[in-house]
Amino acid sequence: MGRLTEQKKRRLNRIHVYLTQNYMTPFPTTLVILGKAIDKKVLGTTSKSKRRIYIAIDGTMEQSRAIETLVHEYAHAMTWTYQSIEDVRPHHCPEWGLAYARVYQDLWEDGGLEMIK
Ligand SMILES: [Zn+2]
Repeated sequence: MGRLTEQKKRRLNRIHVYLTQNYMTPFPTTLVILGKAIDKKVLGTTSKSKRRIYIAIDGTMEQSRAIETLVHEYAHAMTWTYQSIEDVRPHHCPEWGLAYARVYQDLWEDGGLEMIK
């Protein structure tokens, strides 16, 4: 495991801002970058409290993996439904897959990631 550097934190925060400006979510999102691992198997979580969605990610991961995790979790936020409680076990429904694919294409295939400064 690596560590959470200021540079990595800045990069993740900028990507999160880009996502919020380009992809709608039913509630505003807050990104929480953790300086330590959440759990051996959990790289990130998405949960809702009041009228806000909290995305927490393990900031000690290698940067590219942390970015993938952020996009994975953000796709959960994009497809958040009023009934679902995902903080225990996130579900990967077809809608989540479509949301993830949309952002994946933008960031990794259409060069979006390089455009985010
Ligand atoms: Zn998930």
